Amino acid sequence: MTRSDARDAPAGEDARRRVHIVPHTHWDREWYASFQTFRLRLVDLLDDLLPRMEGDPAYARFLLDGQLAVVEDYLAVRPGEAERLRRLVGSGRIAVGPWYTLPDEFLVGGETLVRNLQLGLRVGDRFGGAMPVGYLPDMFGHVAQMPQILAQFGFQHAVVWRGVPSAVDRSGFWWEAPDGTTVRAEYMPQGYGNGSALPDDAKVFVRAVAGFAEEWADLITGPVLWMNGTDHQMPQPWLGRVVAEANDVQDAYDLRIVSLAEHLAAAPTDGLPTWRGELRSGARANLLMGVVSNRVDVRAASARAERALLAGAELLSALFLPPERWPGALLDEAWRAVVLNAAHDSVCACSIDDVCDAVLTRYREAADIGEGLADRALTQLAARVDHDGPVVVNPTARPRGGLVEVSVPGTEAPPGTQRLRARCGESLLHSGPPEIVIPAAQEVDWIPTVSAFAVEAEDGTVLVANERRGTEQLVSAEVRAALDALRTGHTGRLRLTVRQPEQVSVLAHVAGVPGFGWRGWSPGDVSGVAPVTVSEPEAAVGGEGPALANGLVSVAVDPADGTFALDRHAGLGRLVDGGDCGDTYNWCPPATDTLVDAPDAVEVRVLERGPLRARVLVSTRHSWPAGREGLERRTDATVEHDVRTVLELRAGEAFVRVEVSLDNASRDHRLRAHFPLPSPTAGTRAECAFGTVDRGPEAEGGPTEAPLATYPAQRFVQAGGLTVVHDGVTEHELVAPTELAVTLLRATGMLSQMPMATRPLPAGPLVPAPGAQMLGPVTRRYAVAAGDVDPYALADAVLVPLRVAFPATAGRGTTVAEDGAPARDLPPAGTGLTVTGAEVSAVTREGDALLVRVFNPGDERTTVAIEGRRGWLVDLRGRALLAFEGGFDLRPRGLATVVLGDG
Ligand SMILES: [Zn+2]
Repeated sequence: MTRSDARDAPAGEDARRRVHIVPHTHWDREWYASFQTFRLRLVDLLDDLLPRMEGDPAYARFLLDGQLAVVEDYLAVRPGEAERLRRLVGSGRIAVGPWYTLPDEFLVGGETLVRNLQLGLRVGDRFGGAMPVGYLPDMFGHVAQMPQILAQFGFQHAVVWRGVPSAVDRSGFWWEAPDGTTVRAEYMPQGYGNGSALPDDAKVFVRAVAGFAEEWADLITGPVLWMNGTDHQMPQPWLGRVVAEANDVQDAYDLRIVSLAEHLAAAPTDGLPTWRGELRSGARANLLMGVVSNRVDVRAASARAERALLAGAELLSALFLPPERWPGALLDEAWRAVVLNAAHDSVCACSIDDVCDAVLTRYREAADIGEGLADRALTQLAARVDHDGPVVVNPTARPRGGLVEVSVPGTEAPPGTQRLRARCGESLLHSGPPEIVIPAAQEVDWIPTVSAFAVEAEDGTVLVANERRGTEQLVSAEVRAALDALRTGHTGRLRLTVRQPEQVSVLAHVAGVPGFGWRGWSPGDVSGVAPVTVSEPEAAVGGEGPALANGLVSVAVDPADGTFALDRHAGLGRLVDGGDCGDTYNWCPPATDTLVDAPDAVEVRVLERGPLRARVLVSTRHSWPAGREGLERRTDATVEHDVRTVLELRAGEAFVRVEVSLDNASRDHRLRAHFPLPSPTAGTRAECAFGTVDRGPEAEGGPTEAPLATYPAQRFVQAGGLTVVHDGVTEHELVAPTELAVTLLRATGMLSQMPMATRPLPAGPLVPAPGAQMLGPVTRRYAVAAGDVDPYALADAVLVPLRVAFPATAGRGTTVAEDGAPARDLPPAGTGLTVTGAEVSAVTREGDALLVRVFNPGDERTTVAIEGRRGWLVDLRGRALLAFEGGFDLRPRGLATVVLGDG
């Protein structure tokens, strides 16, 4: 039978096996080379592809890797090509999006995943629309809620590779999120590059296709998917011709060049297996789970940036600024930086140092924008609150109390507060020759707290002086002229003195700050919280260390080993250092590992004694091997490390805050904090995108990756009656039914390595990544609570502090409210929004309306109440679903977005 015969045959009578060829490239924007290096190649690729597709109709389709960032990257240097690209996208020949970048799903928050798709779709609309497929070709595993996220964007399909467990025995399966939402997932058994080689020889090509189809015969359901592309692969110009020839030379296969969406439209849906939850198996492809613990500085930077936007700029601007002051452009810029960093090789830090530097810079810029905008929104709020003095703001949904640092005039700490430091009235700033003192005097305007200054001769005669009145400058033109005259005319030494109002900085406990609300604080306000006390047994008595207590919990230090007890549950925070012969992708112990699990020396010192905050410094000295000898063992040579662990207990808090800092000088090692658990457990519960995930003590590995039950958690992990909240995505492992280990630091020096016991094949180029050794200062922060706690409330309390807002002073460098809002139109305590019954993921603005996204982390239905508000439930594209007034029901593990109308 010839090809034309087959085409002419009635439907259903064509016995040829359908093969769908999807030409594509996989574009890691930055990885073993920098963004700019890869972009040069991207420009080459598209410069070649666009005219080729226009001139060769047989080169019928191209998948531009599911991410719009590459389109913008290209058009930034070829703006003239936009129309050409738009035509090819509009006619369905080139598929773009739907993502902005292909993100890692575990190392960024759920909200960042949503923003990534929203940005991708928005940019995609400019080119005629993004591909309506949840394309997830290379992500290092998949979060459980991805089907729900995709479905709320209107997608019915996901396409996955890594993470699919052995239990899935078909190339198509139903993937179900914890809320029951299901999408059809297409599993690519050999990944996105199974068809990367496209021989320019029809017979060789057909043999390759046949080989693949036979190898995976048991698994493949429906047409064979031939993904013709791989990492940074250029188009193969002979595609159309070879496919036509291949159809002519045989009768077994009907080969067609299609889009991914066309392939999925023809994919079977009957009799598919179902998988519920996350995809984190190494059975069929390497999961590369060790990325969670490399470069802990990148994890911390990511958390800081996401928080600065979600619990800072966006939330506070949405609630407390009028719509016309919404800082949309700056927020877009910050989010774009966060979304660029979300790309799997970027946030995963399995990249050269230059890339990690770029990632850190983007995160810093996003955080700076976020923190700066948050400060401005707070200043605006404070101007509107009818209260003299500081206004305490709660950026979280639950009403709560807590400590804030405030400054009050005078020299005395108000009752109930804890004194931190004081500023005296008059001080000598400089003394010396005029050429030193005069320039300094001309700069005093920049110190906003300085209210007066004087330049004196050595005998105390005042030569030039001024006092600040209202918004006037201290160094006016007149004063400046006098100072200039002094500089040229005076011989002998001068003295510069300044006066700052006397002020004392204190910690105050503020109770009952409404959720998403504020409460004015005045000296003399006493919350009545029980104080923190410190008891220090005589050193000779029983070897006990200092103990902190606040009526809720007690914390005691064991001076023998530097661990601590929480409510008498002892041995917490034990540092265990082991070798790591792995790389940025995977941890690998040396053949013979040396574990160092006790310090050589311990010293304990009380830093603060309450009444609101008590802190103890535990200084421990450890001898850790300096490095490793091949894959065999750690070196005999050791390096002494001084680790500073500060334990902090605050009044009113039922948990201990812990800060561990060290100057890392060892290479190729992994440092973990171990926590004996109050009760034995068979698994852990960790925060993940829009919920929690329960995991057992064992993971599924495969032929090329060892099963390691080291798992990521967004902000908290719970096990056996203990909850650990940490700053930044952190790795943990249930090392025994009664012991949890949390990775504080993993230091390796190679981007990829081979061979390794835990992963025999390389995962990337074998190039050095010296920054991944994390040499230098490292600080990790976490908190521990025992017993039955709400981990979300705990994470908010630990990671999102109450903030203090002051009305703008009319000094230099600040602005006063210009929004036309009447000053002091808000009561001394109040709220911008009350949401109960679910966790709030985001509060932002959509035009004039507030947009609130919530999720139900529980296994029961919940009623989400949004007090006094009505509006619309919308999907993640903002399309209205259902009207509501005052509240709505939310299914277990469900995600919902509402747009609020007028209250
Ligand atoms: Zn990739």
